[in-house]
Amino acid sequence: MRTVFLFISGLVCFLTIVFIPKALAASRYPFLVVLDAGHGGTDTGTVQYKKKKIFFEKNFSLIIAKKTAAVLRKKGIPVVLTRTKDSDLSLDSRISIANTWGKKADQALFISIHANSNQEQKVSGLETYVFKAVSNEASERLANIENGHKVVTDGTLDLILTDLVTTANYPDSVRLACSVQNEIAKGLSKKGYKIKNRGVKEALFYVLMKTNMPAILLEAGFATNPTDFSWLNQEKYHDAVSLEISSAVLKWKGGLENHRLSGTGKTGNLSQSHVASAVLKNKHSKGSRGLCSSMY
Ligand SMILES: [Zn+2]
Repeated sequence: MRTVFLFISGLVCFLTIVFIPKALAASRYPFLVVLDAGHGGTDTGTVQYKKKKIFFEKNFSLIIAKKTAAVLRKKGIPVVLTRTKDSDLSLDSRISIANTWGKKADQALFISIHANSNQEQKVSGLETYVFKAVSNEASERLANIENGHKVVTDGTLDLILTDLVTTANYPDSVRLACSVQNEIAKGLSKKGYKIKNRGVKEALFYVLMKTNMPAILLEAGFATNPTDFSWLNQEKYHDAVSLEISSAVLKWKGGLENHRLSGTGKTGNLSQSHVASAVLKNKHSKGSRGLCSSMY
């Protein structure tokens, strides 16, 4: 009887040692990208009508998310989309999806895709946001729109706790934002889209507030500006934006791997700050302002 017990115990130990690590390994991703198509369903985002064409921000964001996912997946990068169709999805659900998948990856990135609007038609261009509890009036106005007028914080304590969560990811979020902003601005310019580079900015975006990874929000043009509007409706523009987001992500990932190969890398987010920094030192363009230019 004792022999049988010892045999079964030994077998259980063997199976645990051999199979569980494999199962765990299979469920982990070295690198993963979460793409969030802004708005959806009854939340249309900005809607603009010009020259018999109608623009829905919710449709644009989904097109870009799907096209970017297709490019990245072809390069072997696992991608999670927060939504794949025209459906309602709360901001909390988007955060929950991101953080659930983020736990399964050594490194995850979160990119929320939007189109901008402004009361003044002349305002145009491309801008990318990172989370910051304190921001200027214009950023607060935009955040209010993108947050769906949701009350973002429950009070001072919530903001302090949020700051603790986002501070660790802040440098990497800024560097990811600068990479995406500069790649798109440069790539679009080469293809004849002389889009204004409005730089990387900070705002109190709810969807970036509690994502436990480098997280950015891209505003890929102003639907209220006639020129941007015509581009936002073009498939070629969609292809170009998606390609440049993918290119920025791949370069960010490339920097991470080079850093690890050099033997100084750690798996934590803070170590990656240096990596992304090295990548961006080469990629930094004159068109980028604000946070990107103040980093070096
Ligand atoms: Zn939006």
